[in-house]
Amino acid sequence: MKIEIESLTEGGKDFERVYAPEELPLEDEFARLASRVRVRGRARRKRGEVEVRGSLDTSVELPCDRCAAPVVLPVNVDFKAELGFADANAASEEATELQDEDMDFSVVEGDAVDLDEIAREQILLALPTRMLCGEGCKGLCPTCGANLNERDCGCAQKEIDPRWSALAALKKP
Ligand SMILES: [Zn+2]
Ligand SMILES: [Zn+2]
Repeated sequence: MKIEIESLTEGGKDFERVYAPEELPLEDEFARLASRVRVRGRARRKRGEVEVRGSLDTSVELPCDRCAAPVVLPVNVDFKAELGFADANAASEEATELQDEDMDFSVVEGDAVDLDEIAREQILLALPTRMLCGEGCKGLCPTCGANLNERDCGCAQKEIDPRWSALAALKKP
C-alpha cells in the first residue's frame, strides 16, 4: 500500500491494512509469515519529512536453531518511522544534512510512502537472533543427524559427558 505524500497534512491521516501472508513476502532466508499482517497507524507530513507511527501484529515461522523444527512466534510491535522526501519548498542542502545526522533516516523514492516496505522492515527487526523450539531442545545428533527430541538414535550414548561419568561411577555396585 502506498500513501501519497500529497494527500498528507500536518494533522495526518489514519491508515489500516491487512495483508495475507503471500502479499508481503519477507525476503528472508529463514523467516516466513505464519498469519496475516495487520498494520495500522497514522501518517503525517512535517516539513521535508513524513512521520509514520503505528502498530503491527502478525506471527512468523522460524526454524529452531538447534533442531530446525518450525516455531511460530507472535510479533506485536509499535513503530515510528521518519522518512525524508524531496520537498520543493525545502532546500535540498537541508535534506542532505538531515540524512547525514541520522543513519536511520531513509528517503522516500517518488511521491508516496511504501507502507509494505515499512511493514516488512518492522517484522524483520522484531525477529530474535536466536530461536529455540523450547529451552530443553536436544537438537540434532552430530553423528547421524537424528532429531534427538523425537528419538534416541543411540550415537549419543557412546560419548559419555564428563558431568555424568562421575554419576555413573556412583551407581556401580
Ligand atoms: Zn529445537
Ligand atoms: Zn545419532
